[in-house]
Amino acid sequence: MNNPILEQIDLPIFDEIKAEHIYPAITTIIIENKTKIKEIENYEISKIDYKFVDELSLLDYKLSNAWSQIGHLNSVMNSDLYRGEYNKCRELITDFYSNLSQNTKIFNLYKELKKSTIFESLSAMQQKIINDEIKDFKLGGVDLDEDKKTTFKELQSKLAKLSSRFEENVLDETNNYTLNITDESLLDGIPKDILESAKALAKENDQKGHTFTLHFPCYIPVLQYAKNRNLRKEMYEAYAKKASEFSDKKFDNTTIIKDILSHRASIARLLGFNNYAELSIDRKMASNPDEVCSFLRDLSNKAKPYGLKDFEELKEAAKKDGVEELEAWDVAFYSEIIKQNKYNINDQEIKQFFPENKVFEGLFNVIKNLYDIDIIESKASIWHTDVKYYELLQDNKIIGSFYLDLYARKNKRGGAWMDECISKTKFNENIDYPVAYLTCNFSSPIGNNPALFTHDEVITLFHECGHGLHHLLTEISEFNVSGIKGVEWDAVELPSQFMENFCWDWNVIKNMTQHIHTKESMPKELFNKLIASKNFQSGMQSLRQIEFALFDMLIHMESNPDNLDVISTLESVRDEVAVVRPPNWNRFPHSFSHIFAGGYAAGYYSYKWAEVLSADVFEEFENNGVLSKDVGARFRREILSVGGSRPAKESFIKFKGREPSVDALLRHNGLTA
Ligand SMILES: [Zn+2]
Repeated sequence: MNNPILEQIDLPIFDEIKAEHIYPAITTIIIENKTKIKEIENYEISKIDYKFVDELSLLDYKLSNAWSQIGHLNSVMNSDLYRGEYNKCRELITDFYSNLSQNTKIFNLYKELKKSTIFESLSAMQQKIINDEIKDFKLGGVDLDEDKKTTFKELQSKLAKLSSRFEENVLDETNNYTLNITDESLLDGIPKDILESAKALAKENDQKGHTFTLHFPCYIPVLQYAKNRNLRKEMYEAYAKKASEFSDKKFDNTTIIKDILSHRASIARLLGFNNYAELSIDRKMASNPDEVCSFLRDLSNKAKPYGLKDFEELKEAAKKDGVEELEAWDVAFYSEIIKQNKYNINDQEIKQFFPENKVFEGLFNVIKNLYDIDIIESKASIWHTDVKYYELLQDNKIIGSFYLDLYARKNKRGGAWMDECISKTKFNENIDYPVAYLTCNFSSPIGNNPALFTHDEVITLFHECGHGLHHLLTEISEFNVSGIKGVEWDAVELPSQFMENFCWDWNVIKNMTQHIHTKESMPKELFNKLIASKNFQSGMQSLRQIEFALFDMLIHMESNPDNLDVISTLESVRDEVAVVRPPNWNRFPHSFSHIFAGGYAAGYYSYKWAEVLSADVFEEFENNGVLSKDVGARFRREILSVGGSRPAKESFIKFKGREPSVDALLRHNGLTA
């Protein structure tokens, strides 16, 4: 059988890949890889040199390259058939990598290479690759005695199951809840489109009136707009108590949280750390948990006065409305009232100024200005007629390319993301530049009108494009550290958040907007309103993020969490940083999936951390002209092009000339006097 995945020469042959190609392609590559690994295992230790590192990278590259196409199609062209094949292969791939991470013979080769005289003669980048590998092997438990290894594996598999259960409970509890209301007088204030969906849902459930759920598109607007305070309270309470001891025992996450923390601490101890936070920070840009805590507390102290001011304003608005004691379920409601009074921003009005073609013209101009790169639409095999393919040209040479899949459609995963299609490597002779996927879920054009974007959508586009440029402008051809690979988790969002800043710059916006009918660019007054609303309640919002991050850090810094009471830890964090005090029955941790089911354990601070870096980087542009070619070239040289080939902190200092400082972020967020 011809298999387009295995026959790929340069770009993937998307229009020919079918579900039946997936399994044969992946099994073929895995078998080849395993054979080669067996061969490498038997290399003579005394003659070891860097060659085996390259050989292993090549195996990784081949598998990643095939899997990237398959994973991408699974996300954007999902079907039952496709998903079945995908899941089958995902298990094979997980197995392959987990066996490799436990391979003592390969681990020994790396250790021997590091001990050998050759190591000194290698480049700093090659040394980093070897050090990273050794660290990853150790964190994977390869170095443990046999009995400890068994314990380690058991703990890992228990943790995987607990995390899935945690997430399932949150999902089930969210899905199980509905609130049916037949008295229309209680629904005053709720937007029409929300009411229509609620009515449709009631009908679907054979109910009268309106039915509300805890899903975000319903829950948030009810809290924001429902004038009936009891209705807000009822929804808030259901939301805040879900998956806790207050709900159905079956879905209670209390014990799961305890077990997750306990198993994580055990894993950390097995690997020689005092607690799980130390283990998590080991591969990050931050040096240790204490540094992260001081960082968060410092930020909290600076944001506190502004948060208190935001809170006073809220209380005042509530008082005017006859509410003496502002409660958690009033916050979104009065915030919305203040926001409308202050800025009167209308998303629909703003959208008229952001037609698709003009936005892309603006985006590509920013890139042209900063890096002297032209972006030209070109042809390639694609998976859907909506998809466009672009090439990045510098001095008439293609240096990278990307697929753009912009609109929401059925069977496409929600959200926006950038993913690696092909990485720049020395292995690929047919295509020596990197290729990316940029995927969004914006609304498609209606009739003959172009697609129109909200300002938030434009920001999302710039954000993902920032990740894309990190991948595409790399000059590293060592697969392990090319582009985003090998970059510390807490620094990965630097290039993406950096790009967002341009959406708040008048010179950029002026040239990126064109009213769909009048053809005029956005009036300065409207832009000023947008800017003014940018930092609305930024004090309160920063404190909320800090509260989550500090809580996450502290519960993972406990070396023996069996006696830990997460709720009282959360309460003490709130004593320290919060201005809005939720009721004591609020069980936020019980649905904090980022840290209990996602990859953010002792890592939630990364959001703020990278924000500090990106703001500090952007300051350099503010000081030298926002579209400065010189600073653009420096940013590209010191940060974008080097990828994970050196520590992120080193790259930052090379760019900025000093260590990161929080000042620029505070200024951008309006948190300075
Ligand atoms: Zn991002």
